[in-house]
Amino acid sequence: MTPDVDVVLIRADNPGPFTLTGTNSYVVGRDGCWVIDPGPALDAHVAALAAEVEARGGAAGILLTHDHSDHAGGVPALVEALGGDVPVHASRYPGDVKLANGDMIGSFAVAATPGHAPDHLSFVIYDTVFSGDAVLGQGSVFVAPDPGALRGYLAGLELLKALQPRRIWPGHGPVVEDPMAKLDEYIAHRLERECKLVDALNAGARTIEALLDTAWADIPNVLRPAAAVTLAAHLDKLEEERRLPDGVERPKWPPSWYTQS
Ligand SMILES: [Zn+2]
Repeated sequence: MTPDVDVVLIRADNPGPFTLTGTNSYVVGRDGCWVIDPGPALDAHVAALAAEVEARGGAAGILLTHDHSDHAGGVPALVEALGGDVPVHASRYPGDVKLANGDMIGSFAVAATPGHAPDHLSFVIYDTVFSGDAVLGQGSVFVAPDPGALRGYLAGLELLKALQPRRIWPGHGPVVEDPMAKLDEYIAHRLERECKLVDALNAGARTIEALLDTAWADIPNVLRPAAAVTLAAHLDKLEEERRLPDGVERPKWPPSWYTQS
């Protein structure tokens, strides 16, 4: 029997198309508890986290899945609220301890799950994964077009699958109680998009609009700019694999609306 993870979810009040019902911050363990993703710099949220940490006997440290502001914006305020002496562990965020794939920190194993952001990590404890924005509680993730991002993203999902988790606590949305099915669904979803995209290219589509109209016909308008970002990552992957025809319009990165969520 694997032990249950002593965790509380504290959701920030920053709902939106990318943050869903808000950012999920987690406090894990006691008497040296860990805060995973302090969330946005919202006073009430930071105060709620600090109160939970105090109730659990103080913090061992802060863990960041990635440095986007809806996950990391509250770090300075939380560190200050906890007395200033709490180490921040992250991949890219300028914290105290740099983390990379395979590291152990406390009882957590660190798994690189890039794609949404190049610095993205997931934290694994027993059979539970804290997945940040690598896997969400609902909907799919947008993949940012850094070099190799989509290949890295798919590899990260396979890495999580190999761990055979029984539960995923995501950065947004509800807990995932059937992680293996969710991971399969995510991988299948990406490959299905790629198939649709290749079909559209084969049919002669070359502009961003035409490719989105064909391969992303099912999404609401509000998510179309994010789909253009993921389209860019898909086109990069096809280009890396020498499967991209000439003359395809490429989305600009980063787009003007992008504020790192
Ligand atoms: Zn996020």
